Amino acid sequence: MSPPAVEPRLGGKVFVKSYGCQMNVYDSERMTEALAEHGYSHTSSIDDADLIVLNTCHIREKAAEKVYSELGRVRELKAERAAAGRSTVVAVAGCVAQAEGPEVLAREPAVDLVVGPQSYHRLPELIARIRRENNSVVDTEFPRESKFASLPARAPAQGPAAFLTVQEGCDKFCTFCVVPYTRGTEYSRSVADIEREARNLVGTGVREITLLGQNVNAYHGSGPDGTSWSLAQLIRHLANIEGLARLRYTTSHPRDMSDDLIAAHGEEEKLMPYLHLPFQSGSDRILAAMNRKHTAEQYLELVARIRAAQPQIALSTDVIVGFPGETEREFEETLALTREVGFAQAYSFKYSARPGTPAAKLGAQVPDEVKSRRLLRLREQLNGQQSAFNTRCVGRVLPVLFEKPGRRTGQLVGRSPYLQAVHAEAALGHLGRILPVEILACGPNSLAGVIRPA
Ligand code: SAM
Ligand code: SF4
Repeated sequence: MSPPAVEPRLGGKVFVKSYGCQMNVYDSERMTEALAEHGYSHTSSIDDADLIVLNTCHIREKAAEKVYSELGRVRELKAERAAAGRSTVVAVAGCVAQAEGPEVLAREPAVDLVVGPQSYHRLPELIARIRRENNSVVDTEFPRESKFASLPARAPAQGPAAFLTVQEGCDKFCTFCVVPYTRGTEYSRSVADIEREARNLVGTGVREITLLGQNVNAYHGSGPDGTSWSLAQLIRHLANIEGLARLRYTTSHPRDMSDDLIAAHGEEEKLMPYLHLPFQSGSDRILAAMNRKHTAEQYLELVARIRAAQPQIALSTDVIVGFPGETEREFEETLALTREVGFAQAYSFKYSARPGTPAAKLGAQVPDEVKSRRLLRLREQLNGQQSAFNTRCVGRVLPVLFEKPGRRTGQLVGRSPYLQAVHAEAALGHLGRILPVEILACGPNSLAGVIRPA
C-alpha cells in the first residue's frame, strides 16, 4: 500500500548512501554540496532525513539488487513518517538510475526521483519540480552542459585524503561491462578546472589526492597551452601545488599505460608507488572475447616496464572468473598470471551477466557453482599474495599519512604509500601529518607500528 500523500518541502536534512566505486563516493559528496546551497544539511542518520538519496551501482547484479532491498526499508520508513505528518523525498541516483530509468519507479513506487550520473547537479531543481508538480521525475539525460561547471566549489575537506574526478565515461566497450552505457562516452575535465579544485582541496587541509576516472589513464583534457594533456602531464602539473604531498590515480586500463605515465612513476616523488591495473583474465581467448585488446603476455611485459621504472611499485588488480565459455584450463591461466605478477592487493569477481551487454547474450554461461569454486581458489591465492606483501613490510619504516582516529582510544589510522591501512598510537594532533612509522606487525588487511623520529 502506498503511503498517504504529504507535500514534500525544500530544505531539511539529506542522507546520501553511496554504493560501488570511488567515483560514486565523489559524486555523493558533490550532490551533498549542491544540496547544501539549497538549504539541505547533511545527516548520517537515515531516520532523520527529509531527503534520502541512494547513489547506486549497476556493475554486477548483486550491487543492483542491494539497492532494491534498501528501497524496501526506505518505503517503510517513508510510510511511518507520512503517518506522523512528515514528508520524505526518495531519490535514486547513479548507475542503476541511468540503466533502469522509469523501471525503478515501476518496481518501487516509494521513489520520487530517478537521476542519472550526468544530471545530478540538477538535483535541487528536480526536487523543486517534484514539489511543484507533486509527481515523480526521471532524468537520465546526458545534458550538454558540463555538470562540473554547474557544481558549487568544494566544501572544506572531511579529512587529509580526497578524491577528485578528472575523467568520466568509457569508450572501450569491454563485452561484460555496463559502464559505457551508464556513464556514457569518455569525457576529460580541463587541467585548469582540475587544478582549481585541487588547490581548493589543499587549501582546506588535503595532503593526498586520488585522481579518479572509469578509465583515468585515457585522460586527455585541454591543457593551459590549448593542447590536449595526458594524465602524466596532469600529474606532473598538480605535483607543483605546494602543500599537496601525495598523488594517486585509479582505475587504469593496460592499453592506456603510456610511456610518459610509466616514466612519471619513476620520476615524480609525489606519485605514490601503487597502481591498480586490472587484467581480468589470464587467457588470451577470454581476453579477446572480453574485447580487452591485450594479451596475457602484453600485460606481463607492461608490468615489467612499470617495475623497471619504479621497482618499489605495489600492484593491484581486478579479475573476473567464469566469463561465458571459460574452461578450467583458461581459469588455470588466470591463476598462472596472478602467480607470475604477485599482487599486493586485488579485487576478484564472479562474472555477472548484465542486461544489454554483448557477453550476456553469449551461450555457454558458466554455472554458478563452478564460478564460486574458481573464485574461492583465486581468492586463496590472492589473499596469500597480499599477506606475503604485508609481511614483507614488517621491519620497514614507512611514511604514513594519518587520516582518522582508530577504533582504540589513542590510536590513529593512516595510509602507507602502498595504500595499506596502518594503525599506530598517536595524538589527535598528528591527523593530516605524514610521519615515519616502523611496522611491527601485519594482518591480512592492515599494518600496525610505532612512530619513529624523522
Ligand atoms: N575501467 C576499469 C578497467 O577496465 O579495468 C574497471 C572499472 S569496473 C567499474 C571495475 C571492475 O568491475 C572491472 O575491472 C571488472 O573486474 C569488474 N566488472 C565489471 N563488469 C563486471 C561484470 N559484468 N561481472 C563481474 N565483474 C565485473
Ligand atoms: Fe568497463 Fe573498464 Fe572496460 Fe570501460 S575499460 S568497458 S569501464 S571494464
